Amino acid sequence: MKREIFVGRVGIGGRHPLSVQSMTNTAADDVKGTLAQIRQLRRAGCDIVRVALPSRSFLSPLKQIIGRSPLPVIVDIHFDPALAMQAMDAGAHGIRINPGNIGSNEKLKAVIRLAGQKKIPIRIGVNSGSLEKKYRKAGLTTAQAMVNSVLDKIKFFEDQHFFDLKISLKASDVRETVAAYRLIDRQCPYPLHLGITEAGTFFAGSIRSAVGIGSLLLDGIGNTFRVSLTAPPVREIEVARQIMRALGLLERGVELVSCPTCARAQVDLIALCKRFEAKIAGLDFPGKLKVAIMGCEVNGPGEASDADIGLAFSRSRAFLFKKGRVVARLAPAEALDRLFELASEAAGGVKHG
Ligand code: SF4
Repeated sequence: MKREIFVGRVGIGGRHPLSVQSMTNTAADDVKGTLAQIRQLRRAGCDIVRVALPSRSFLSPLKQIIGRSPLPVIVDIHFDPALAMQAMDAGAHGIRINPGNIGSNEKLKAVIRLAGQKKIPIRIGVNSGSLEKKYRKAGLTTAQAMVNSVLDKIKFFEDQHFFDLKISLKASDVRETVAAYRLIDRQCPYPLHLGITEAGTFFAGSIRSAVGIGSLLLDGIGNTFRVSLTAPPVREIEVARQIMRALGLLERGVELVSCPTCARAQVDLIALCKRFEAKIAGLDFPGKLKVAIMGCEVNGPGEASDADIGLAFSRSRAFLFKKGRVVARLAPAEALDRLFELASEAAGGVKHG
């Protein structure tokens, strides 16, 4: 079990559940827009939000954002140790630095001292792209070089008696990232923040993240993660939740399963599934429910027999089934609404606040 740290009220490591993060992409001085984005992220299921602080001229808006954010805020700082300290004074619940670019050891010590006094956790993030030369030795894999680099940095923090650490190791190559996390997991007691950096646009990035992050989570590695996408941040949370759902790590919500259709299907299943997804998108489901929408009544109920509830369509009828057993025959036009009603009742669907 990894050491427990707290980012605001969210525990990471220890016995705490896996948490999901995202990062705002609004302008650093846009308080209103940033808070709106954070609220949207929270509604989608985000636990912790990261905000970049590009320079000290944005400290005042940052302070307002942190003060009014419904989620704990980690402030992301590069190159400037003074800025890291100002972010902590502004109320940051956590900071993310790359010790390789934050300046001299003396300056880093001052950052660590203040974080210790304020009990603010620090994420040490090592990226393969910014790996110092001394770690790029011949014969060493990128994964091992990243691990060696982060172990040295951890030692530096420990020598300052600072232990509220969270570690990330990111290469844009999925295999190297997975290899690096597998290595560090065996060697460090601190919680791990997973992510595939520069993962790409929505479609490709989601797949790369699902493969990389999913592999590690399946191994029981990782305490918190972010799916990084070149897409609106809320999509990162949607993908993160789907990854967790696929791994059985999400104890709430409606999971929709559907068949790929074949020549037996007599309905436009893609449109039906889209309509159902749109119906559930604005709701929060405290309960857990598996819902199936299947293209034919011949195989649909049987193929989706592990779904709690579902619909299978013929040309003129919709068959409502529970655990593979048909319980009602409906007119296709009203079937989707009925399925939605039953799913909402069973999983306790409520409108987002
Ligand atoms: Fe084809 Fe029916 Fe199976 Fe869907 S459920 S893939 S329509 S056989």
